[in-house]
Amino acid sequence: MEIRLDGKRALVTGAGKGIGREIVKVLTECGAHVVAVSRTQADLDSLKAETGCSTILADITSAEEAKRCAEAAGDIDLLVNNAGIALLAPFLEVTVQDFDETIAVNLRAALIIGQVVAKGMIARGKGGAIVNVSSQAGVAAVQDHTAYCASKAGLDHLTRVMALELGPHQIRVNSVNPTVILTPMGEKTWGAPEKGGPMLAKIPMGRFGYPIHVAQAVAYLLSDQSDMINGIIMPIDGGFLVG
Ligand code: NAP
Repeated sequence: MEIRLDGKRALVTGAGKGIGREIVKVLTECGAHVVAVSRTQADLDSLKAETGCSTILADITSAEEAKRCAEAAGDIDLLVNNAGIALLAPFLEVTVQDFDETIAVNLRAALIIGQVVAKGMIARGKGGAIVNVSSQAGVAAVQDHTAYCASKAGLDHLTRVMALELGPHQIRVNSVNPTVILTPMGEKTWGAPEKGGPMLAKIPMGRFGYPIHVAQAVAYLLSDQSDMINGIIMPIDGGFLVG
């Protein structure tokens, strides 16, 4: 089985580094033309040189910027809401500012960009596919991750409602929920052995993931090979969530 996305236009947010960057590479290899959104110009320049993608510089913390980049992307068949941030603090010390920023990037931007893209898909009448990049933290409580966990749990339920309401238009919406993935974010949060060790011990397969593990699952969920899969929350976690 070979995944082909020839002739499709894909929009990927948070494409500059880590998982999003790998998703752009894999979707391009599958034949899609990708529009990459991120907030550091140098990342977008190197990604464009590597893959031939189109780029849009935007910080989607802002609702206006999120709408602007989705509109500027043009007709989109495949959407990956990947941009996310992790601002860590014990529950008793979480600030309103950090909570609001986390929700804005991890959850609200997926709503706004999803609305613009889905309206275009509906107008063109050819369906489409959307993947929201969530986390095991959307399902399991993780120490010091109050805002992050809440944002990802919200994203998972947004995925289900989108699947419910967009399904009749042949637009499938699913989420992927990775464990620790070795990206700049993953290294920052779990790189220290005293933090990474206990997390590793809870993963039956005993290892963290790499961006390619997530990118391949995303490509599958965007492809015709997953034609009847709609509204799932797909762990990519080496078994973490069975515990
Ligand atoms: P990362 O290494 O920090 O990369 C995130 C990318 O998104 C960066 O290019 C970043 O740009 C961009 N970005 C962040 N906020 C943005 C904003 N407001 N507007 C536009 N671009 C923005 O993160 P990652 O590990 O690849 O994570 C990607 C997704 O996977 C996130 O949703 C994350 O929650 C999820 N996830 C990650 C892990 C993990 O362990 N790594 C596990 C589960 C789920 P700048 O660098 O320029 O800020």
